[in-house]
Amino acid sequence: MKKRNSCSANGLSIQHLYYDILVRIFMNLNVVELSIVSMVSKSWNHISRDPLLWAKLDLSRISPNAFNIPSVPEAWSDTNSSNKLTTLLKYALSLSNYNTTCIVFNYFIYLTDAHLVFVAERTPNLKRLVLPFSGKLSSVGVKTAMKSWRDLQSITITSVVKSRTIFSAIRMYYQDIIELKFTCNFEIRQGELLVKYTPNLRALSLRNVMVNLRALLNILNSLEKLEEVNICHSLIWDRVNGKVETYTIHDVRNRVNLSLLQKLIFCQRNRCLMCKNVNNINPRRQPYVHFEDLWHQDEIRSLGH
Ligand SMILES: [Zn+2]
Repeated sequence: MKKRNSCSANGLSIQHLYYDILVRIFMNLNVVELSIVSMVSKSWNHISRDPLLWAKLDLSRISPNAFNIPSVPEAWSDTNSSNKLTTLLKYALSLSNYNTTCIVFNYFIYLTDAHLVFVAERTPNLKRLVLPFSGKLSSVGVKTAMKSWRDLQSITITSVVKSRTIFSAIRMYYQDIIELKFTCNFEIRQGELLVKYTPNLRALSLRNVMVNLRALLNILNSLEKLEEVNICHSLIWDRVNGKVETYTIHDVRNRVNLSLLQKLIFCQRNRCLMCKNVNNINPRRQPYVHFEDLWHQDEIRSLGH
């Protein structure tokens, strides 16, 4: 009897070990590969539903060959590509079992209201949202999605959505946003929206964009809980008497009290390799236009992916 118990105990621990090892291995798979291994057997299907595997749903790791769709903007805009994306989301989110807290869309995916709302209904615990570069989102679509996300804290905003649309939804559902990354130009209007609707903002990335000086000063003066601001590779500018003027980090420091801010992250434009590369080495890569690598990376760790 004692021997049987011991065997059974060993059997149980071997089973646990097998489960844990496979979860570790599956963590290295992208969402398409994970969906495939979930169909291998009943036990692998069970393991592929582990909450650890779905906390972050990272569609940016999909291989360009997975859907035979090229990695260029707008390539996913046809009905066939849209249906492929819906099928993937449907299956992946059924495995996730509402455990996803962060979703990173693929940069090249063409995101529609239908996709966003579908995702939102199956990710009620979402905390971080990284939008793709292209798509067509309406005010109704964004508001419907936001209604499902009551714990949303962090957003990477791209040109896929108008700022006023997203801030209108934030205001409507009292979202307590603490982190934002803008991959589109930051104007006076965006500064005003931030001050009004994200008073608890702690981290803001305005990386490689054109930043209006008055908008930047407004948020630095008004957002009391702001801890980190990233303005690496960006151009600070303003229009004075009808003329466009550019400004340095010293000009910003001279105009605002930065003592409450823990970190203002900036690059030395004349020494920064990235700024130099854009200007001199690769003339086809236009400055202040967003590319996939710029969207991925960030000096504020929690805003990179
Ligand atoms: Zn730079």
